[in-house]
Amino acid sequence: MRYLILGECGIINANGSCRNFGPSSHVSSIDINRWSRGEDTPIGCQLSFDGEMANESVQFQTSLGPRLPGSAASSALRESIKSNLTGWEITEKTHHVNGMVLTNIFATWNPGLGSTVILAAHYDTRGQAENDWNESRRDEPILGANDGASGVAVLLELAKHIPAMNLSHEITLFFTDGEDQGESLRTYALGS
Ligand SMILES: [Zn+2]
Repeated sequence: MRYLILGECGIINANGSCRNFGPSSHVSSIDINRWSRGEDTPIGCQLSFDGEMANESVQFQTSLGPRLPGSAASSALRESIKSNLTGWEITEKTHHVNGMVLTNIFATWNPGLGSTVILAAHYDTRGQAENDWNESRRDEPILGANDGASGVAVLLELAKHIPAMNLSHEITLFFTDGEDQGESLRTYALGS
């Protein structure tokens, strides 16, 4: 089993520099093993990744407000994520950690086919901005545009392309809750 973890992602100009590799419709398959060893073209350079759509997703997510575990905004985002994954096999798993109710979403393409590649991003946002330059706002929750929202936007955009790539692997998109909570760096990734 191989893991590729996406954290926070910069998606500005995601339409740009890879266009010279040709239209994505010419891509029939990718050798994941060669790719993981750096012997193949990065997947991102073989896709017509729509950066504008990804940025729209970021705007939508931040419009919900902070996506704290157990909140209405968190639930609304999960519903939106699932509604954007037509054709994917979706499962949700809820567990309790340190008084929080955490719900992870797994979306799978090609279930049971070959080895599994997991692409992951957290969808929650941190409950306090302890590193904000403005000390008076350090107790406030963050909106997480270039944090949780960017990773989710990238996964949702990839989800549109993966079904057409004829991959010989099971692909799981893992949207994890509670990654950005906790009291210190040692206690982050609670939901993962
Ligand atoms: Zn984060």
